[in-house]
Amino acid sequence: MATQAQALSFAPTQQMITDADASLMHIVARPGVVFVRGKGSYMWDADDRRYLDFIQGWAVNCLGHSPPALVRALSRQAKVLLNASPALHNPLIIETAKLLTENSALDRVFFASSGAEANEGALKLARRYGQKHRNGAFEVITTWNSFHGRTLAMMSATGKQAWEPLFEPKVPGFVKVPFNDLTAMRKAITPNTAAIMVEPVQGEGGVNVATKRYMKGLRELCDETGVLLILDEIQTGIGRTGSLFAYEQFDIEPDIMTLGKGLGGGFPVSALLSKEKVSVFEPGDQGGTYCGQPLAMIAAKTVIEEMLRKNIPRKAKNRGNYLKRQLKFMSKEFRFTDVRGMGLLVAVDLPQEKGPAIVAKALEEGLLINAPGAATLRFMPALTISRAEIDEMIEILRKVLRAVL
Ligand code: PLP
Repeated sequence: MATQAQALSFAPTQQMITDADASLMHIVARPGVVFVRGKGSYMWDADDRRYLDFIQGWAVNCLGHSPPALVRALSRQAKVLLNASPALHNPLIIETAKLLTENSALDRVFFASSGAEANEGALKLARRYGQKHRNGAFEVITTWNSFHGRTLAMMSATGKQAWEPLFEPKVPGFVKVPFNDLTAMRKAITPNTAAIMVEPVQGEGGVNVATKRYMKGLRELCDETGVLLILDEIQTGIGRTGSLFAYEQFDIEPDIMTLGKGLGGGFPVSALLSKEKVSVFEPGDQGGTYCGQPLAMIAAKTVIEEMLRKNIPRKAKNRGNYLKRQLKFMSKEFRFTDVRGMGLLVAVDLPQEKGPAIVAKALEEGLLINAPGAATLRFMPALTISRAEIDEMIEILRKVLRAVL
């Protein structure tokens, strides 16, 4: 393997870190490690050290690092057609849209590149619908602790307290209410409300799972009032929670749904889906240079086909239950205050605000995990993870927690 790493021929790690400090915008404090390759549940750094990856590109690499089927499909397509033009047909955009509509409760698809871009599209669609069918209603109700992306409108939609003072003035038209609180949602609806937008599980907010009662209640509220129900499934979709889409487990159907992250298995692609009656865009309303380009489409198509062919969502559910069981076994020793999640989107709450210290120590020990809050750890491995790899993670985590807590 050393020869493989050497063949990649990068500058020495310290040189790369110095160059990064000098040339990249400082948007996040990255650790002093440079990752050069990945396979399945593992990544290797420039010094050929192996890490067990429970972040997977931020819940993106649903089939693991460089899955053979995706690598083959992308390589083949790269030789055939990269970008036709968003204003021209290509076979893959048609086939991928068909695959999504045939396997979901939604009827129409618009493709984009990032989650925030798909969510922007969802908001525009809701406003367009409000204009046409609800006397110009334009407001969207979102929830506290939600995360919808980093464009200006999505930062305005997101319910992160720390973002409230940033980049003022925000995009108007968002109202925020507590998550899992139907009464607050009912009270917030006015004639100006075009849509409600929620995540079935708030991922960035710390893996807060919606109750079935809440999701069913939202659907009923929307049916009663004519307000649209938008589900942001950018993190929960494509098998992550144990079904192809999380909404299936709540026995409801959204009017609009957004997908990203796992959809491309590591390749940047996202999608906005809607019911037929809500599909009110007119030519000129929506678009983008990279929307539906063949390389992104082959990635999405391959990922969905793999999900269906190998029933990966079911495996994610089983592995997720196993992971939660193992974490619960550790609860007593480390006094976790909660272990929760759906499928392979799992979190534990710690008795102390040691999340960042644990993440740093885990990195030293060859494990990549995330702390979405000071006292919370999040686990979002590949959906193809094995029990042995989960056991390996638990062993490393136990060692790390004994050192830090
Ligand atoms: N929505 C949810 C639920 C997310 O988790 C994220 C990213 O973490 C986004 C939207 C934004 O996606 P992107 O970073 O691809 O724009």
